[in-house]
Amino acid sequence: MSKLVWIDGQRVPLAQAKISVFDHGLLYGDGVFEGLRQYNGGIFRPQEHLDRLFDSARAIRLEIPYSASELLRAMEETLAANALQESYIRLVVTRGVGLLGISPANCQRPSVFIITDTIQMYPAELYRTGMAIITASTVRTAPNALSPKIKSLNYLNNILAKWEAIDAGVPEAVMLNHLGYVCECTGDNIFIVRRGELLTPPPESGLLMGITRGVVLELAGKAGIPTRQTNLLRSDLYTADECFLTGSGAEVIAVTSIDKRPIGPGKVGPITQQLSAAFHHYARHG
Ligand code: PMP
Repeated sequence: MSKLVWIDGQRVPLAQAKISVFDHGLLYGDGVFEGLRQYNGGIFRPQEHLDRLFDSARAIRLEIPYSASELLRAMEETLAANALQESYIRLVVTRGVGLLGISPANCQRPSVFIITDTIQMYPAELYRTGMAIITASTVRTAPNALSPKIKSLNYLNNILAKWEAIDAGVPEAVMLNHLGYVCECTGDNIFIVRRGELLTPPPESGLLMGITRGVVLELAGKAGIPTRQTNLLRSDLYTADECFLTGSGAEVIAVTSIDKRPIGPGKVGPITQQLSAAFHHYARHG
């Protein structure tokens, strides 16, 4: 674990990196966050993560007390202070300390902290073999209730689906949206390959617009793989030739079965392999 955490403008030892029990981020999940990766010493797509953070904050009327460039510098300085080259960065903005009661109006100042650490979302072996997932019965939050585009500290919807995965003995679950279309997984976006075409649910399906999702779409475009963002049904997953998930934590990981039904031949597919290799090359070498 990294030794120093950046918290409200200061780098402090881990043991002293503390947030008040009156912080509304803790009391109500009132806050936003980002999970970023560092490859070869450089932060991957920092501007996109910061844009999403500021959009999320704006959507919940949270004013971040730092500029994007100040936050970028703080992340870089924390990475350097912890002598990290390849890591995972968690940037969190909470509503800050307030009274009991949900009103954000009496919270004085948002708390901001940065943790730099390593992350292993899934066991290394699954990156070679692909993994089994399930479809959760927990429906993804309806976007007209609380938009999943907001990367907020309230992940209970995803956590309930994650429990279903845990109960089924698999690492991840795919969630359908309020209309019954495939949306995303609890912490990753989902792609399928069908007859050489790369398909993924569209923004309006109510998903988090993953940065990795966007990069994979770009890389597929560059590789001449046709891509389409389109509504998918559960049956489209079952009849896919290949399936994989993307996320800053997960990177690119193949799915070889869903609800115990093998995807294609039940092995990591060639386009998945190609895009995973392209992603890792791009992340480290541009
Ligand atoms: N969907 C959800 C619900 C997520 O939490 C995440 C990030 N962990 C993603 C998708 C993937 O987004 P990104 O590629 O930006 O990490």
